[in-house]
Amino acid sequence: MTARADEIAANLDVVRRRIATACAEAGRPEDDVSLVVVTKFFPASDVRVLADLGVTDVGENRHQEAEAKAAECVDLGLRWHFIGGLQSNKAAAVASYADVVESVDRAKLVAPLSRGAHSRGHEVDVLLQVSLDPPGADHRSGADPADLADLAQRVEEAGMLRLRGLMAVAPLGERPDDAFARLAEVREVFVRDHPRATTLSAGMSGDLEAAIRHGATHVRVGSAVLGERPAVK
Ligand SMILES: *Cc1c(COP(=O)(O)O)cnc(C)c1O
Repeated sequence: MTARADEIAANLDVVRRRIATACAEAGRPEDDVSLVVVTKFFPASDVRVLADLGVTDVGENRHQEAEAKAAECVDLGLRWHFIGGLQSNKAAAVASYADVVESVDRAKLVAPLSRGAHSRGHEVDVLLQVSLDPPGADHRSGADPADLADLAQRVEEAGMLRLRGLMAVAPLGERPDDAFARLAEVREVFVRDHPRATTLSAGMSGDLEAAIRHGATHVRVGSAVLGERPAVK
């Protein structure tokens, strides 16, 4: 193995153990929680190392980078998760390579996603991104919990999209446990109306334990596996 592969393998081991420990402490079976490794800013060569180490799911947050990397790694058979802010004029293109789009937060995205999935001839899994910011906060990413029911209905009525569940990011400046406790309440209501949409994508390098305590089924982990990213512009 190269030095880089050794480093990634060691980090991955630590993260897998963190997930297992958090599951045990929450009284949940370990296979309740899936790992999505966030590969944004890191090269396709790292994605190959991850696939060799048994990683099946990777996440990207910028369309151009994701599209290029997914094309370069198409032989690996990975599931590509799009987890970033989505522009409606890019949504159809994202649906042409993403297997899961986790960041659907407004109705305008639904038609182009459906169209992209149609032209690819392949259903795309959809998570609705819910905002955990306090109402009235400046930079809300994600839908207001009050808008989820309408958004879910639109996804279910559009062809080629499968509504799978919810995604959220804990806001800065609040204890992740508090934010994820709110998320768990939102999810409980949501799943009542959409009993098959049980995915909950929450938790990153810094807060995956809190997310698992509050029911996450998928954690999205970048820097704890691949190292620090360059500062985001
Ligand atoms: C970058 C990113 C992550 C991973 O963050 P880390 O702190 O590096 O684990 C998870 N979710 C989203 C939406 C991201 O943009």
